[in-house]
Amino acid sequence: MLALLGLIVVGCGDGGDAASESGVEVVATTTQLADLAANVAGERAAVVGILAPNSDPHEYEPRPSDAESLAGADLVLRSGGDVDLWLDQLIEGAGADAPVLTLIDSVRTVEGGHEEGDEHSEEVDPHWWQDPRNAIAAVEAIRDALIEVDPEGAGDYRANARAYVADLRRLDAGIARCIDRVPPGERKLVTSHDALGYFADRYGIEVIGAAIPALSTQAQASAGETAALVDLIRAEGVAAIFPEAGVSAQLEEAIASETGAQIGGELWADALGPPGSSGATYLGAMAANAATLVDGFTGGRQSCAIDVGAR
Ligand SMILES: [Zn+2]
Repeated sequence: MLALLGLIVVGCGDGGDAASESGVEVVATTTQLADLAANVAGERAAVVGILAPNSDPHEYEPRPSDAESLAGADLVLRSGGDVDLWLDQLIEGAGADAPVLTLIDSVRTVEGGHEEGDEHSEEVDPHWWQDPRNAIAAVEAIRDALIEVDPEGAGDYRANARAYVADLRRLDAGIARCIDRVPPGERKLVTSHDALGYFADRYGIEVIGAAIPALSTQAQASAGETAALVDLIRAEGVAAIFPEAGVSAQLEEAIASETGAQIGGELWADALGPPGSSGATYLGAMAANAATLVDGFTGGRQSCAIDVGAR
């Protein structure tokens, strides 16, 4: 049992083992990816997620049980970029030979990064799932990869993907309606790290800054960077600073108290939450984020809820 601790098995009705109709096993790195895959796999294939809910993918240290999962995998799903660079070493160590699908290659990417002194560094932002249209592209790529390894399940995978993509489209439209309730001048986002660039890009939100001014939680803010952010928050009249679930909010709280901004609700940024939480699924997490942002941006004047059904 110890070896299984932390392994999340989703997508199969009985839970706890990797049983499925086809015997096909998919291993996914991040919690978001495991959830997208489970919705395509349905009962036909088992999906094992490497990361546990609420755990930061940027700083993950693989365990021996991860190598065991990989060794038995028929398909490996990687998010791509800084969030699961650790997969390479893990695959090598496990001697795994399953095909690896890197989803960042199937989605529309944007660049992120911050100005540091005179030098402006841009890199591909790895948080692509924060735009539901990218989640749709990822689901379609996962569907095609599953059909490749399990052609007999093609009908199931297509039907599952079609139903889930319809849910993702409803989610996208629902978030857009939510953010429309916030006057454009009040959509000023400050988060723990630079994780919501895609979300901001999709829904017309201005990213003012982040407590950790980087695309990775592994970076640290210098005193000068924090002072500059404090000035910017005051100058822009930012209403709320949003901490991220699973990341310490100490710096955010200090910045809030210095600027008079509120601490907004926690966002589901790089990991989904445990079962029963608002972030237990991708659909739930994104809907919860939209509601949290609307509340924080408007100081509670506006609220919105998105019905994402049972998924
Ligand atoms: Zn991140």
